[in-house]
Amino acid sequence: MSEPRFGLAALGDGAGGFVIDEIAVRAPQAGEVRVALQAAGLCHTDHASLHWPGPLVLGHEGAGVVESVGDGVTAFRPGQRVLLNWALPCGRCPQCRRGRGSLCERTHGVDPTLGSSSPPPGHTHWRGQAVERSFRLGTLAQFTLVRAEALTALPATLPMRCACILGCGVMTGVGAALNVAAVQAGDTVAVVGCGGVGLSVVQGARLAGAGRIIAIDRRPEALQRAQSLGATHTLRAPDDDPRHEQLAAAVRALTDGRGADHAFEATGVAALAFLPLKLCRHGGHAVQLSGAHGPQTVEMPEFWWDKRYLVPLYGGCQPERDFPRLIDWALRGELQLDRMVTHTYALADLGRAFDDMLAGRSAKGVILFEPVIDPLGD
Ligand SMILES: [Zn+2]
Ligand SMILES: [Zn+2]
Repeated sequence: MSEPRFGLAALGDGAGGFVIDEIAVRAPQAGEVRVALQAAGLCHTDHASLHWPGPLVLGHEGAGVVESVGDGVTAFRPGQRVLLNWALPCGRCPQCRRGRGSLCERTHGVDPTLGSSSPPPGHTHWRGQAVERSFRLGTLAQFTLVRAEALTALPATLPMRCACILGCGVMTGVGAALNVAAVQAGDTVAVVGCGGVGLSVVQGARLAGAGRIIAIDRRPEALQRAQSLGATHTLRAPDDDPRHEQLAAAVRALTDGRGADHAFEATGVAALAFLPLKLCRHGGHAVQLSGAHGPQTVEMPEFWWDKRYLVPLYGGCQPERDFPRLIDWALRGELQLDRMVTHTYALADLGRAFDDMLAGRSAKGVILFEPVIDPLGD
């Protein structure tokens, strides 16, 4: 197992395009694991990363089977089914010591693609040159090399096509509700945008026992999906409502005139980044999940007392706490992943998968790989 493994991967070219070609992934060294991917979910971030300096192995949500392990890795063995995650808290920096591992300064410090917790550069080659991977994972590939800390064991009863989306979109949405906003039983919640992350917020709010969960979108099928996953009310966002006054009034009408205790924005539309401030009550939480960057203008037409505006990274993920419980909820059917995975594709159809995601046709699209390693039966 000391030889490199060759497999197909999707690589961004830094100019908005990608190629599918063969990469070589070296054998694992001490503390490392080489994984044969079986399923990889798509996030909007994957499309955005087509513009990051390439070549870059794409993909940061994935599940697969351990192909080989390096010295000292005792928690995993070849054939084991595993989930990948991109938060690798060091446990020692000031953020980690405060329990904010998702903001680890050693992992996310200077260059988000070169965390100290990742194997050192030079592990993955394409056309003879070393390449980096999206979020230090690169899950849109048949093989990847990670440190063992990036893995959580998966039970055989959770299908790969469902499990893989736990690694980013579901963690981000459920974690925003439970870890960041800390939704409490009986609270009111408004969620703008019912794609993969928004639907995960809806499920997180339901798991927290929220009293009212108001799902907001323009697409009737997205609202139906939100309802099937726990939304108690749905609002079709009005077409001609540039300052969102109608929408805010509709949310107030459903929350005893107060506004939601927690309002989330998960549309990916930068211009809506501050909408949650309009939808939540005084002292409430406004949570922006689009990862919108760059200058945005916000109007302050009224007094917004004690509102808190939050832009969480990775749903406040603490891998050792969060992934086992997400997996548990999924096994018990309390976290429904099947209904979120609306489309599956072969790697060769990645272009179509991006089109479906950008057009809003898919809630979660998942790329499925031909298995190259048989999983253990346990
Ligand atoms: Zn740290
Ligand atoms: Zn993501």
